Amino acid sequence: MAFEPGEVISYLAMCEEEGSSLQRGMNFRLGPNHSVLLMSQRPNAPYADEVRDGGTVIIYEGHDAPRGDDAPDPKAVDQPLRTATGRLTQNGRFFEAARTRRELVRVYEKLLQGIWVCNGVFRLTDAWTESSGGRLVCRFRLEITEADAAGAPQQREPSRIIPSVVKREVWARDGGRCVLCGASDDLHFDHEIPFSRGGASTTENVRILCARHNLRKGARIE
Ligand SMILES: [Zn+2]
Repeated sequence: MAFEPGEVISYLAMCEEEGSSLQRGMNFRLGPNHSVLLMSQRPNAPYADEVRDGGTVIIYEGHDAPRGDDAPDPKAVDQPLRTATGRLTQNGRFFEAARTRRELVRVYEKLLQGIWVCNGVFRLTDAWTESSGGRLVCRFRLEITEADAAGAPQQREPSRIIPSVVKREVWARDGGRCVLCGASDDLHFDHEIPFSRGGASTTENVRILCARHNLRKGARIE
């Protein structure tokens, strides 16, 4: 994919990359070989997406029925796998694909209004429904992969999702700019001490770098 995990992107850049004006969170097989999920862990986010296992697993919540005669309050009815006419919903399509454990999913995270982060490419490995607040919700398990969306392995250190709260704190602390040169475009969340050397995804060890300084840093470490 065109974006690296941890890269900060605009909504428009994301839509341009995916060739679609992304209006909904779940987009099954948006490209010929991949799906797209949009997540958010902001305090007012509509769904309860979780990051687990040190940033290598996402548990993504399915989406509610559209508001309508059947569902005046979408939060009060089961999340549907099929529509009233029997067609698979987005929940249903992801649910079926989870059985194959093959579907590759690009995950983008909304950090702030208009500011998104690429979380990387994941493999959809499980799906289930569970009772939550008196109704059934869908949950999807996504495991981080170093593959690109075409399934080709990438030459880079294994990535981890940086927790949302850390990203928001770092973004505020660094003022949305590269800490080395002040650039405000082509930004990445960067681990000062890399994962491979034991660096943690903490506010103290994460900073914002522009692409130029990010690359320079890579060269220095090799
Ligand atoms: Zn810079």
